[in-house]
Amino acid sequence: APGNGNGPEELLRRHRAVLPEWVGLYYERPIELTHGEGRHVWDAEGVRYLDFFGGILTTMTEHALPAVTKAVAEQAARLVHSSTLYLNRPMVELAERVAALSGIPDARVFFTTSGTEANDTALMLATAHRGSNQVLAMRNSYHGRSFSSVGITGNSAWSPTSLSPLQTLYVHGGVRTRGPFADLDDAAYIRACVADLRDVLAQTRGNVAALIAEPVQGVGGFTSGPDGLFAAFRRVLDERGILWISDEVQTGWGRTGEHFWGWQAHAGNGPPDVLTFAKGIGNGMSIGGVVARASVMNCLDAQSISTFGGSPVTMAAGLANLEHLLANDLQGNARRVGGLLIERVRAVSAGLDLVREVRGRGLMIGVDLVAPGTDDSCPRAASLVLEAAREAGLLLGKGGGPGGSVLRIAPPLSLTVSEAQEGAELLGRALREARARLDG
Ligand code: PMP
Repeated sequence: APGNGNGPEELLRRHRAVLPEWVGLYYERPIELTHGEGRHVWDAEGVRYLDFFGGILTTMTEHALPAVTKAVAEQAARLVHSSTLYLNRPMVELAERVAALSGIPDARVFFTTSGTEANDTALMLATAHRGSNQVLAMRNSYHGRSFSSVGITGNSAWSPTSLSPLQTLYVHGGVRTRGPFADLDDAAYIRACVADLRDVLAQTRGNVAALIAEPVQGVGGFTSGPDGLFAAFRRVLDERGILWISDEVQTGWGRTGEHFWGWQAHAGNGPPDVLTFAKGIGNGMSIGGVVARASVMNCLDAQSISTFGGSPVTMAAGLANLEHLLANDLQGNARRVGGLLIERVRAVSAGLDLVREVRGRGLMIGVDLVAPGTDDSCPRAASLVLEAAREAGLLLGKGGGPGGSVLRIAPPLSLTVSEAQEGAELLGRALREARARLDG
């Protein structure tokens, strides 16, 4: 409890003494979360927050969803032994659900424990399948923290080493509003990105394994190219047999409202060859995974298993969570409530000269901030808004984006209309307060 030398301040001191410096903490006074329910979380001091960020981190449906809690408790009480050396009913069942939902024909599913490991596996599959360590990735991308996934992360703020085992070539298309093509209309933008892709490929020798991309860049600031971009890329990739890996770690499970997967906004030339997922599917339990066509998934000719990937406990959580998501049409909720939320966020941002753009789809909304009166990204503004929102009882995401000045809004997919309205009001207040402090 606070006040007895055992509160959040003491915990922060101990955190700093024992954890690496590169584990970033939000807020000047970091929050110790102790409890969650619905779309709210509480801290150790009993303060309640409306959670506009945890939806993308872990909480796809809602905090402490009773069906997930029950499934985890029951499975944990029965059996936690997770080896894939034995038949595992919850794993097979979740794999069947995910394969059917993926849109990938003849799909095979492999479970990991994180998004990083899912992408790492996708890279291993693609490079083995193609006999090449050349990979195409997007500028401003983020794909994880392993040695190989850092090597395809274009966002330098999240890429702590450049000593990658991969040969990575970065292409345009992830950030619609900046860079040399920003002034073009959507069709011309896509043509320019395709020309850029062809130009990059013309400078390679031998096979290129894959193009990996987030349909909407997450850590990069909820930014994306126009719909259809990856369908246009796909035509070029197909000419050379290059695989398309869609990193759906943030965009999967209906988050974008209109689509169940982010790739579906680019479906003109069919589904991706490989899809990776993680984060909210376990509603906090660690599940990641890869879906791929059998011909790609089965290209490995040695054993490759995961001790904890596919654990019956996390699989039980995933099954219960997915069931809840589908039964309650939370994708439809993301579309409806997300549509209202982006309107409200635009309304409270109107006339504020520190907001460059409010963008997004479904319950994945970015607020891009600038230094007032300029077009320069302003990380300080993002920090000020984050602090002010916290004081008002609203948790947001930060960072991301070229310049690190994008606020990220990604609540649980069950967000209600009144919570959307309340959150937008609180955000408006925080924006105005940050604006005043920028003057001060
Ligand atoms: N891909 C994307 C698009 C992500 O946003 C993240 C996590 N921020 C990852 C991969 C890595 O996932 P994890 O943190 O579970 O390893």
